[in-house]
Amino acid sequence: MSEQTTIHIAGTWRSAVSGATREVLDPADATVLAVVAEAGAADTDAAVGAARAAFDSGQWPRTPVPERAALLRRTADLLDRDRERLGLLESRDAGKTLEEGRTDVDCVAAAFRYFADLVAGESAGRVVDAGTPDVHSVVVHEPVGVCALITPWNYPLLQASWKIAPALAAGNTFVLKPSEITPLSTAALIGLLVEAGLPAGVANLVTGPGDPVGARLAAHPDVDLVSFTGGLASGTKVMRAAADSVKKVALELGGKNPNVVFADACATEGGFDTAVDQALNAAFMHSGQVCSAGSRLIVEEGVADRFVAELARRADRIRLGRGTDPGVECGPLVSAAQRERTEEYVASALAEGAVLRAGGHRPDGPGYFYRPTVLDRCHRGMRVVREEVFGPVLTVETFRTEAEAVALANDTEYGLAGAVWTSDPGRGRRVAGRLRHGTVWINDFHPYLPQAEWGGFGKSGTGRELGPSGLAEYRETKHVYQNLAPHPVRWFAG
Ligand code: NAD
Repeated sequence: MSEQTTIHIAGTWRSAVSGATREVLDPADATVLAVVAEAGAADTDAAVGAARAAFDSGQWPRTPVPERAALLRRTADLLDRDRERLGLLESRDAGKTLEEGRTDVDCVAAAFRYFADLVAGESAGRVVDAGTPDVHSVVVHEPVGVCALITPWNYPLLQASWKIAPALAAGNTFVLKPSEITPLSTAALIGLLVEAGLPAGVANLVTGPGDPVGARLAAHPDVDLVSFTGGLASGTKVMRAAADSVKKVALELGGKNPNVVFADACATEGGFDTAVDQALNAAFMHSGQVCSAGSRLIVEEGVADRFVAELARRADRIRLGRGTDPGVECGPLVSAAQRERTEEYVASALAEGAVLRAGGHRPDGPGYFYRPTVLDRCHRGMRVVREEVFGPVLTVETFRTEAEAVALANDTEYGLAGAVWTSDPGRGRRVAGRLRHGTVWINDFHPYLPQAEWGGFGKSGTGRELGPSGLAEYRETKHVYQNLAPHPVRWFAG
């Protein structure tokens, strides 16, 4: 298999300076999908240098907003054109179903269009009333500069787009480092930006490991901002590495997301089926490798046994397989390491007294598959309840009162997302108001809107992606105060 020159610097596709390469595996059978360039420190420095030069030249930062917006829209059109190719690439590389891969591409195009519209619809600045007609005072936004964008393997294209689109809309240049496990679709996306007409040096790509590539980007004195999506352990390292140069830091980290089900939600016509179905989707979509996965089911005691029995019955029927095979509902875990980590969590939960209701083992055959797993009789003392597994593992806790449900749902160091299921709209809003999570769904799970902010409370991160705040992350705010009638102030008498 020939090596792909996946490093993109100053408009040129390259191999690594060291000549190093990495095999990218298909998680469905562990065969080699592609061989990519493995960047190191020298490539990272070259990419930062290119992004710095492109920013300092002023070409892209001073490109009129309508032209920047037009480039984002052209990129979205190219994504539409290449939907099948990119959806397939994402499915093969990240192990998701083909339908999920296609949906991801649609969401990526939507993010590009959203930020194009947002930036194009803004006024040039906010005039501030200085209290005197002799002063013209205006607050304007400017790009931050060179952005380091570091992304994970579970939604390679989508997470990249939530950073690239606002960064470009705001006039920044960037160096993007995708996960070393899933770099293929991201390289294809950079290709589309080039095709859409982005000037050389504005978008740079380094495919390589967290250390040294990501770590160097986070610490680099010529990088002005680092936006990181990934795990808590890496996120804290990024924050520390960024401290010396006082760069702006945005972190989108993990979650341990509660899915709270009240008995009244199950008492209405079709309510039980809907709540079970959505709990299944919340926990097992993309084999649970979703930052907002509803991995903690918190269900009211009176309905718990029936709920868990039906959930387990349906979990046992989930069809695993290669994401491109017809009828497959769940793909493999992304790597051998991710499956081993999942197995360790399940073993620790069983040792701590959890009761296995479904799954808990790997199926026979190749690939990194693991059966969707339901662990009943869980409690806060268990590691599996406190820590993010990032695999198809659902824990079950029960409650008796609304206050207890809220306390359990908030009893996590994370705070990314959560849901409440109830037929009582007042209770829904009341509980939603008390959940300390960045997104709360009432009678739903997983939907997000590009227009609405996404991000976490607590250790789920700092800053927000999407929505107006997702654009603000990539901007400096400047106050320009113009005195139209200057005169001496005579503060000093001499
Ligand atoms: P990870 O932290 O291992 O890696 C994420 C990225 O950081 C990769 O590109 C990796 O190479 C890089 N990296 C690793 N160490 C680094 C370092 N010291 N300095 C700089 N970069 C470094 O995470 P992962 O396993 O790829 O992804 C799974 C995690 O991502 C989960 O915790 C999940 O919850 C989180 N996630 C969060 C969101 C969100 O929106 N909050 C979205 C998707 C995934």
